[in-house]
Amino acid sequence: MSGEASLPPLREVIARHGLGAKKSLGQNFLFDLNLTRRIARAAAPLHTVIEVGPGPGGLTRALLMEGAGRVMAVERDERALAALAEISAAWPGRLEVVAGDALAQDWRALAGGGPVQIVANLPYNIATPLLVGWLSDPWPPWFSALTLMFQKEVAERIVAKPGSRDYGRLSVLCQWRCEARKLFDVHRSAFTPPPKVTSAVVQLIPRAAPVPVCELAKLERVTAAGFGQRRKMLRQSLKAVFAEPEAVLTRLGIAPTARAEEIAVADFARLALEL
Ligand code: SAM
Repeated sequence: MSGEASLPPLREVIARHGLGAKKSLGQNFLFDLNLTRRIARAAAPLHTVIEVGPGPGGLTRALLMEGAGRVMAVERDERALAALAEISAAWPGRLEVVAGDALAQDWRALAGGGPVQIVANLPYNIATPLLVGWLSDPWPPWFSALTLMFQKEVAERIVAKPGSRDYGRLSVLCQWRCEARKLFDVHRSAFTPPPKVTSAVVQLIPRAAPVPVCELAKLERVTAAGFGQRRKMLRQSLKAVFAEPEAVLTRLGIAPTARAEEIAVADFARLALEL
């Protein structure tokens, strides 16, 4: 017997390996195979996958069942390694476990030059820094798609459109570099232990080239200035980066009286090109 049929239920795995959830590691585990398979299917077609934080391996098992040829799973909690070794044995040659901190990985080296996608139920305490790090890498990126679980509030910020309360620096970075969409919400009761808030799965597909192309550091300067004072009009808030913001905005056809939350992602990139 091999594959999923040879593995014990996840609750048994947790009990046997003493994997009581640690809040400091953002551990909220998924046990429901219908849900983990739904996340894996949302990322299909699956080839080589990097998973961040496999923990006891619920999503890892679903990824393998849904046809991932190879999964590289980066886990910081040493207590989970024995449970993950059992999954490796059940799916020979298809799961490689990398013991270590996701914040300190050389992702491009791990990906090894092939097309790789990331699928993860991210630890919430480092989810945004991880995403920003991946999107701040030189472009084109080393990944072909990101299918990720976030707290719903972060998911809403990632996909927010101009004019919405959630639209901000994270929205601009994500949508400048990727097509971003929210796939579905996941109620807190799906996790053990349940987190305080609802979660949501988001998918980001990298654009071949951000539109328009500008330097990331300059884009960040413009969005930091604009959203740093989001109640102010751009002709005022952009004084932090332009000597004469009103003239620049008028030249670009952007209303100087607009606020940062009202202008498009491409407008921020056009402003960055003026720096
Ligand atoms: N994938 C499992 C699931 O869906 O049930 C666990 C998800 S849990 C939300 C987050 C996982 O990330 C935990 O297993 C935790 O130990 C791991 N983790 C937390 N911080 C990490 C880090 N810096 N590097 C790698 N893994 C980390």
